Parts: sequence; C-alpha cells; structure tokens
Amino acid sequence: MSKTDRRNLPVNADRIAEDIDALAKITEPDHPWTRRAFSPLFLEGRAYIEARMKAAGLETRIDAGGNLIGRRAGLKPGLGTILVGSHSDTVPDGGRFDGIAGTISALEVARALKDQNIELDHDLEIVDFLAEEVSIFGVSCIGSRGMTGQLPEAWLSRTSGDRNLAQGIAEVGGDPSILLQQKRPDLAGFLELHIEQGPILEAEHKDVGIVTAIAGITRIEITVEGRADHAGTTPMGRRADALVAAAQLVLDIRNAATELAKTPGHFAATVGEFRIEPNAANVVPSKVVLLIDGRAEIRSDMESFIAWVDEAVQKVATAYGVTIKPPVRVSDNFPTPGNAGLLETLERACDRVGAQHRRMASGAGHDTAWIAKVAPAAMIFVPCKDGRSHSADEWAENDDIAMGAAVLFEAVREMDKTLQTKA
Ligand SMILES: [Zn+2]
Repeated sequence: MSKTDRRNLPVNADRIAEDIDALAKITEPDHPWTRRAFSPLFLEGRAYIEARMKAAGLETRIDAGGNLIGRRAGLKPGLGTILVGSHSDTVPDGGRFDGIAGTISALEVARALKDQNIELDHDLEIVDFLAEEVSIFGVSCIGSRGMTGQLPEAWLSRTSGDRNLAQGIAEVGGDPSILLQQKRPDLAGFLELHIEQGPILEAEHKDVGIVTAIAGITRIEITVEGRADHAGTTPMGRRADALVAAAQLVLDIRNAATELAKTPGHFAATVGEFRIEPNAANVVPSKVVLLIDGRAEIRSDMESFIAWVDEAVQKVATAYGVTIKPPVRVSDNFPTPGNAGLLETLERACDRVGAQHRRMASGAGHDTAWIAKVAPAAMIFVPCKDGRSHSADEWAENDDIAMGAAVLFEAVREMDKTLQTKA
C-alpha cells in the first residue's frame, strides 16, 4: 500500500507504531480494543500517553474539562497556541486507530520538532480530548466541549451507576467547579488527524483526505398511528396498518437520500431506530415510532430533506389510511466547515511531503467540530482498510499514519509563520 516513498518523512514512523501498539495492549482482554472513557483502562492508557509526552519534553497537565495536554512553550509568549490532537477513548469493542492515530501523530509532531531542534514562535499543545465517543454518561465530545465553554450545564448531573458526569470528570483530573467558564481565547489554530472510517481514500489510492466540512447531524422522529385489529379476522382492505405505512416511509427516505447524495456535498439518511406497537404476531400494528439520522455537508440539502419529509409523511398517511403527526426534529446541528486558510495550508503540506490528497467531507462527528466554533480548525483523514471502523477489524497502515503525521508537522510549521497573532 506504499504509494509514496516514506523514508524521507520528517517524522519517525517506528515511534508512531510503537505507541499505537502499546496502547492497543491496554484493553479489556476479551474485548479488543476497549478502553472506554472514565474506566481504569482509560486512565492507564492516559498514563502511558502522559509519560510519552514528558519523554518528548512536553509539560503536561489535565485541564478543567479533563483533557490531557502536553505543552511546548514558543519563542514569542502571547502569540497564541497551536493545538493538535484527537482522543484515546474507544467505543466498546472498538478499533486500535480511531482517535489514537490522531493523538499519537500529534505527539509525534512535537517529538519531530524536538529532534530537529525546531523552535516555534507559538506555544504548541498536544491534546488527548476526554470522551469523544458516546460515553457511559450517554454523551460525547465532553473534553472538546468542556475546553471551550460549550458543555451544557445539565450534562454534569447525568449519571452512570453511582456517579455523575461532574464526578467522572473530577476522577480523571478535571475540575467541574470551573468547567462551565472555560474559554480558550489563546487558540490560534487547531488540527486533528483521524482515520477516515470510510472507504474512499483506500479506493482512490490517496494518502490524505482534507476535510472540507464535518457534516451536520439532524435527527427526526416520526410517529405513525394506525389501528390495532385482529390479524386473523380483519379483511386486508379494512386495515390501518402502521407498520406497512412506516415501511413505505423507510423506502421513500432511502430513495430521497440516494437522490440528494448524487448532488454535490455529502448527504446520507438512515432509519436506524424503529419501535413497533404492540409488536405481537396476531395484532395489526397500531403504532410505529421511527428515528431518521440525517447527515449533510451542505445545510441547504438538509433543509430540502426536512421539507421533503414533511410532505412525504402526509402522502403516506393518505395512501395508507394512518395518522402521522408532523415530524419532530429531535436534534439539529449545522455542518462545520474546515477553516479555508487551514485547508490550503494542509494541501501545501501534503505537496511538500509528497502525499496524494483530495478534499472530502466527514460524515462522522469529531472534536474538531467543537474547537472550530472558537478557533480556526481543520482536520485530515488517513486511509483505513475496507472503510471499517468502530469494530475490532478496524485497521490503518502505519505508513499511512506516518504520512499523515508528516502532513501535520509541515502544516504546524507553516501555521507558526502565518497564523494571526492572538492577543
Ligand atoms: Zn474518533
């Protein structure tokens, strides 16, 4: 899979492999690779990363949001901070690379700068964000939201077992008492490397994806109400079968999303949650609640889709003799575009290290989306095998991760020269 000569990269590929392998060993033994946020294994993984940060000459701390940060002071105090990183927590039975590749690549940038005696004007911070994945508290991106004052206060009292999120954050070394006031006005720029979690880069033999936008996520709940009747005695023509109507809707949604996906900009919609009542073999279904997960790179695509759903449910209701209430938007987040200047910086960095690249959207959410609300931010993808992720089969070639780390290294050096001063 070697598409470009990796021998002359400004980063050390072996050191990246060593760290990723070491973290892979810190897992629930029967569930590779599981290192969920707030667990003892997560803290063990963090201790490893912190030791490696210290060995790289970084000054480490845990911020109020529970993020592990390694800092390297710049030559010009007050110029602002360049932040680079990702997350080291996993989903249950997750992968070796999701998040981890980005945290270790960021660390490798700091090490490569040290090896080459390169001093930056800006302060550089390497971050391992707390709980990017949906955690035991049922919420995600806790660290990146917490760092930037975007964590909803109500979340702190969410419970899991006998503790709440505030206690969980304190246990990893954060400070919930000052968490809600956190701001990072010093952030001059942020970069994240992540595995693609999709098949495009591998299929197109590209080394790096420059992420144009992180898709917005909109969840729409639809309740279809029919009438419960005897499944044996009610004639076929005299039923109000909620499930048959809902099934038609699922097909219509798939078709509408397929059409939208053909237009420019990533678009996907999925019905992944589906509840049937009474869910009994001998009763005509009386009620179905389904949840649509929609992802759009371009907001106007999502708006057309939402308008289409409103009309589609009325047509289905009429055709199948059921009642469908107006669809409810359970959540609705806008797409987050990558910073235009940083996208160009990343492209130049790819060209400098010889990485084949293309622009692409992210269908998945990432910490970058939260940092982007307060500072210029952008991310890159590296290929992963068969597009598999959130699975024990997730795999990324170390050469590809090293190539991505080299792109980060070059981009950070350019950012240090070009980013605007943060007072
Ligand atoms: Zn991730």
